[in-house]
Amino acid sequence: MTAGLIDGKAVAARVRAALKDDVSAFIARTGVQPGLATVLVGGDPASEVYVANKRKSTVASGMADLHQHLPEDASQAEVESLLRRLAADPQVSGILLQLPVPAQLNAAPLIDLIPFEKDVDGLTTLSVGRLAQQKPGLRPCTPAGVIELLDAYDVPIEGANVVVIGRSELVGRPVAQLLVNRNATVTIAHSRTRNLAEVCRAADIVVAAVGVKGLITAEHIKPGATVIDVGIHRGPEGLSGDVDFGPAAEVAGLITPVPGGVGPMTIAMLLVNTLRAAELQYELAGAAATA
Ligand code: NAP
Repeated sequence: MTAGLIDGKAVAARVRAALKDDVSAFIARTGVQPGLATVLVGGDPASEVYVANKRKSTVASGMADLHQHLPEDASQAEVESLLRRLAADPQVSGILLQLPVPAQLNAAPLIDLIPFEKDVDGLTTLSVGRLAQQKPGLRPCTPAGVIELLDAYDVPIEGANVVVIGRSELVGRPVAQLLVNRNATVTIAHSRTRNLAEVCRAADIVVAAVGVKGLITAEHIKPGATVIDVGIHRGPEGLSGDVDFGPAAEVAGLITPVPGGVGPMTIAMLLVNTLRAAELQYELAGAAATA
């Protein structure tokens, strides 16, 4: 292997340590303890594990765990009513509706009940628009984590040619938008892209958010390029990504492993967003009081 490893675990640990100090400083300055309301509907085992990790990390950062659990058969109106209550509650800085929700629920209108200043997942229509317009707001966690990793390793973004493979609302589109906002020249590739390997070989930075195990290999990578693998696949040999790591690492200059790359950044950025949400609300309340 010739590429340098991007150590997401180490970067995430540094982000979390700095965040803990920032949370203490915010509480000392404002008297407000930031709080995260995770909302879990039903008992999907994977979602239960994800939510438990988020709650544990919230408390470890000095923020309040304001978790809410609704039964599997909760109606649209019941979830709406809970989200409206959390939206209006000044104790609640951030609201996270854990996805997927049970089949009887329509997730999109539920997500849009979360006010942009509490939208720690950055997925509401308003948050997406604010990102596009470069207005203050909360950015989706995994895409924000990708940017944090590039910055941690001093990978130049401005003027870089970047290929993002994937155009989902959760990862591909927002990461492309964040990179454009940082003055990268961004190409978004997807399942209809012709000559994917050739398109990718023009890139200084490749971000793979495809959801296809090992699709991106050495032929997709320009020698010395930075490769960020967002993919997560569970197999008999453990976790792996969208990048065929061994061959790709022979060509790349820097590369994220799976596990231990982008994955650990997602919760770290959720915690950062929860504090940022509390700050936003404090600023908005101050602005309203002086208006
Ligand atoms: P998704 O919604 O399934 O989107 C996949 C995208 O990849 C689509 O835009 C699709 O194109 C494109 N695509 C699929 N096959 C392709 C191919 N053969 N060539 C080129 N493009 C192709 O997935 P997602 O939610 O963005 O997630 C992507 C991966 O990231 C998954 O492995 C997921 O598990 C992982 N993930 C990780 C984290 C983390 O914390 N590390 C967080 C979220 C997601 P079309 O639009 O044309 O269909």
